Amino acid sequence: MDHFLYRDGALYAEDVAISEIAAAVGTPFYVYSTATLLRHFHLFDDALDGMEHLVCYAMKANSNQAVLQTLAQAGAGMDVVSGGEYRRARAAGVPGERIVFSGVGKTRDEIRLALEGGIRQFNVESEPEMAILDAVAQELGVVAPITVRVNPDVDAKTHAKIATGKSENKFGIPIARAREVYAMAAAMPGLDVIGIDVHIGSQLTDLAPFEQAYLKVAELTETLRADGHRITRLDLGGGLGIPYERSNADPPLPSDYGALVQRTLGHLGCEIEIEPGRLIAGNAGLMVSEVIYVKSGEGRDFLILDGAMNDLIRPAMYEAYHDIIPVIEPAPGVAPEPIDIVGPVCESGDTFAKQRNMPPLVAGDLVAFRSAGAYGAVMSSEYNSRPLIPEVLVKEDQFAVIRARPTFDEMINRDTIPEWL
Ligand SMILES: *Cc1c(COP(=O)(O)O)cnc(C)c1O
Repeated sequence: MDHFLYRDGALYAEDVAISEIAAAVGTPFYVYSTATLLRHFHLFDDALDGMEHLVCYAMKANSNQAVLQTLAQAGAGMDVVSGGEYRRARAAGVPGERIVFSGVGKTRDEIRLALEGGIRQFNVESEPEMAILDAVAQELGVVAPITVRVNPDVDAKTHAKIATGKSENKFGIPIARAREVYAMAAAMPGLDVIGIDVHIGSQLTDLAPFEQAYLKVAELTETLRADGHRITRLDLGGGLGIPYERSNADPPLPSDYGALVQRTLGHLGCEIEIEPGRLIAGNAGLMVSEVIYVKSGEGRDFLILDGAMNDLIRPAMYEAYHDIIPVIEPAPGVAPEPIDIVGPVCESGDTFAKQRNMPPLVAGDLVAFRSAGAYGAVMSSEYNSRPLIPEVLVKEDQFAVIRARPTFDEMINRDTIPEWL
């Protein structure tokens, strides 16, 4: 459920009309709902009630400082995957002991940053990383708390570009080698082995792969404990999917997910961490765009928008589906017609939808892309020299620009000219 609903035929974000925001900031733009962000965070937090736990928002989904502060003030920890994200989390007021550091390629500088600034744990993904982490920790005279990310070799049945838990993926160490790797880690004086980490992919719309993975983690916990390791924390990753297509939506609920965690892992007495990104931020955001032209083509028509693949790359990159709805609700009885919805960028890939049924629209009308709050603004670029689009946060009847659109001069002046020119 989200807080983007029609009122008297006009689309609102909470108590603010989308058209009012468009008039204030211009199109295209992203808009996020505070109530939806918090609702999704609390759904997860409540689903794990009864187990000691921390929900660490995977901030790569949407790392705007205002979004982070909204979630941090509600009690969220953060899952970070770079030094930049670590700095963003700290800047949003998140203490080190609520920050988990994930990612396959942590550099020495990033490791040092987190060890000096404070960290809940590193999720270590390889033996070379373990050795560097041990070395840097010893240089600094500290001990780094770690889990090892194991790859359980389960098929997450999601898009190939966001599956991470098969043995051919670059993530984690094969679960079959876990005992050997944990023994190596335990022998390193700079490391404190405290748990196990697993993350099998993103946009999973079925709980079965989670169950397979968590049963393997439960078994591994017992094995490692028998080997003498003190396993007290299980990081279960993120990845619960969202209903991008409302018409056939039947996603797993956080409460069902919580029950699955309890059933498969509850008996171990471990502290549980989860790292949802998409499910917290995805349906908490829209991208709003204006129709520039309606173009008639050979056998098909095109709705040409002022938003493009540089603003929202998911359709081009993952063949992702987004519901696209008019900001002014069509009158009852108006028949929708199929149309291709595209942006102005000079690539055929800049196509948001093909032969999508839409009510008749004309130049100047506004449309909203649903489920654009995660992996939207964070993946945007200035390709075709289109300045980054603004982000707006709504809370009840208030809205604020939380990242302004750069001016053309700001965009151009980021480049510098060498002396020889
Ligand atoms: C991307 C990622 C997540 C979040 O995935 P979502 O699908 O957005 O929930 C969590 N943990 C790790 C390690 C990730 O790489």
